[in-house]
Amino acid sequence: MSAAPGSSTRLKLWGVRGSIPVPGSGTVRYGGNTACVEVRADGELIVLDAGSGIRELGLALESEFGSRPINLSLLITHVHWDHIQGFPFFVPSYDDKNQITIFGYNGADSGLREILKGQMATPFFPVALYDLPGKIQFESPETMDFKIGKVRVRARMMNHPGVCVGYRIFTSEGSIAYLPDHEPYEAFKLHSAKSHLLSPEQTKKSAQKDRAELVKFLQGSDVLILDTQYTDEEYQAHVGWGHGSISSCVSLALDAGVRKLILFHHDPTHDDQMIDKMVQTARKMAAKSENYLEVEGAREGAEMTLD
Ligand SMILES: [Zn+2]
Ligand SMILES: [Zn+2]
Repeated sequence: MSAAPGSSTRLKLWGVRGSIPVPGSGTVRYGGNTACVEVRADGELIVLDAGSGIRELGLALESEFGSRPINLSLLITHVHWDHIQGFPFFVPSYDDKNQITIFGYNGADSGLREILKGQMATPFFPVALYDLPGKIQFESPETMDFKIGKVRVRARMMNHPGVCVGYRIFTSEGSIAYLPDHEPYEAFKLHSAKSHLLSPEQTKKSAQKDRAELVKFLQGSDVLILDTQYTDEEYQAHVGWGHGSISSCVSLALDAGVRKLILFHHDPTHDDQMIDKMVQTARKMAAKSENYLEVEGAREGAEMTLD
């Protein structure tokens, strides 16, 4: 990975925060906007999630494309606020020359459309979804594997409250996995098994099976953008909240043979210094392994290419 021009697969982070935007002096370096990632690959413009970071992306696209039409695919992982709240402020949807195709699961055709419509309905917002001049189309893929032009997309259900998927995007130059919201299986299952009929051994076994399948899903990803909301200590107090911790993220990336791990979905209470520390901790953990793993903290405005 480098910032060298000429590569056709490019990645830019527009929003890296979880839960709620947190602008302010403490978050200047990593950024305060919620989830949004731009991918350019094989002639396609793919946007991952529509958190508040998508507003800035929209402005950048307007100035890049000028009078030319923008044709993009917006892949939504789930409809928690931090993944859709920026959409009403995405300027390309206010221009009838632009085509925006929104992909999502759990009946995106009705469910996702109704939810995006709902967050723009009176009295929450002055412009209704259907009054947006842009050509907005909803796609609800029937399988967990679909194509956008030459780019293959695989989806997988994540361990997160409600319906939430992660995406792996296969380009001609490598693959990018985007799992913004995911909690490691084992602690979660043991925590929630209290009310279930499975024994702790059966629960552990089922968690290991789920994790092995996730490792397979991620195997050999060039870039993994992964929910690392908590330190290991913080996670102990947040089991069941649907988010990851440093050690579970590093071990998942190592087991899946990932090249670069990007710690994502920063907790709103974590300032730049705290994220620096978390990155250092993750790097130390990765360095103990025989396998090479590059670790970075997701930073708003960061760009990279696959080559
Ligand atoms: Zn989230
Ligand atoms: Zn969520």
